[in-house]
Amino acid sequence: MGKTVYLDNAATTMADPAVVKAMLPYYSEKYGNPSSLHAFGREAAQALEESRATIAKALGCEADEIVFTSGGTESDNLAILGVAALAKTKRVITTAIEHPAVLKTCDYLEANGFEVVRLPVDRYGILRLADLERALSKEAAAVSVMHANNEVGSVQPIEAIAKLCAGKGVPLHVDAVQSFGKLPIELSKAPISLLSVSSHKIHGPKGAGALFVRRGVKLSPRLLGGGHERGLRSGTENVSGIVGFAKAAEIARRNRVKNCRKMSLLRDRLAKRVLAANKGAWLNGPTGVKRLCNNANFSFPGIEGEALVLRLDAEGIAASTGSACSSKSLKPSHVLLAMGLTPVQAHGSLRLTLSRFTTAREIDYAAGKIAQVVKELGGFSNVSREEAMRRV
Ligand code: PLP
Repeated sequence: MGKTVYLDNAATTMADPAVVKAMLPYYSEKYGNPSSLHAFGREAAQALEESRATIAKALGCEADEIVFTSGGTESDNLAILGVAALAKTKRVITTAIEHPAVLKTCDYLEANGFEVVRLPVDRYGILRLADLERALSKEAAAVSVMHANNEVGSVQPIEAIAKLCAGKGVPLHVDAVQSFGKLPIELSKAPISLLSVSSHKIHGPKGAGALFVRRGVKLSPRLLGGGHERGLRSGTENVSGIVGFAKAAEIARRNRVKNCRKMSLLRDRLAKRVLAANKGAWLNGPTGVKRLCNNANFSFPGIEGEALVLRLDAEGIAASTGSACSSKSLKPSHVLLAMGLTPVQAHGSLRLTLSRFTTAREIDYAAGKIAQVVKELGGFSNVSREEAMRRV
């Protein structure tokens, strides 16, 4: 094949050539600072406001509810720490399967006197509403639940979660970094207070993102300075990055249904082939509409996920064992552990995530190579087929 098959789109995506084209003028002739009064500044400010309107349209909210940030991590930090700083109740609720951008932020709050409730999930990586309801019977400053999980693609019942939180008057923050552009998000309908999105997961540039802050929700800023972004995020805006982000969001919005259908068909083809060729393997996470359209996460008992990723890399296939941030550590995935896998089982996982640019040829090549590499690495040597199949 002689070419790389990139199946790590949950970690990051290729910038769409149309996005790069839209950004380029903002590095060369349109390089003004949006805060400047002169023509260069006004041109940049106009691009910034048009981009804000585009992101707002993609999220179904008002433009003045969008705060531009450097990405998902910053948005998550601003949302959770920003609300916590003003809260009277030192208690926050989250789930055991959040991205480290949320989990570490909650750890920080815990180290600073907060009670943190980390709700469990079922074997498919989905939160039980009854657990949230119970946690909400005591006062809380905020709830933070991700829309779709970055490792196993499980999709949370976010509208029901939002209603429960709204019923108790507790602000809900949603990390929608993985779902943005893939699942419909209509903020005018769901009572979500804060929502994080990131550009580089949707074929936009790295270093741009946004936090939706519903009108009336009070936040304390994390970055202090010139009072940009309505005082919530000081610092000269990344105009070129934001223009690219808006272009990516617009493309994703227009083609969402078509692209997701294509990705889910290819993902199912991949899963079918991988499971047929590797009898002891299983798919982690839910199926159907409860799973993000581009995610497949397999367990290969008896095999180290890291070894698999390195061997596949040598065959030109880019895959992952978990989230990009933790994939260099040899700790088993906290998400798979929360879903009930043993540490040994969690070690043998492989995450493959597609994009709208992924082709059937690439999927077939990857499925063939995975079967070959699993065989070479001697999978399933320590685990009976019955034990492996028990979790399918
Ligand atoms: N939240 C989730 C669910 C993610 O998957 C990621 C990135 O992998 C982030 C937050 C962090 O986003 P960023 O890389 O834009 O900081």
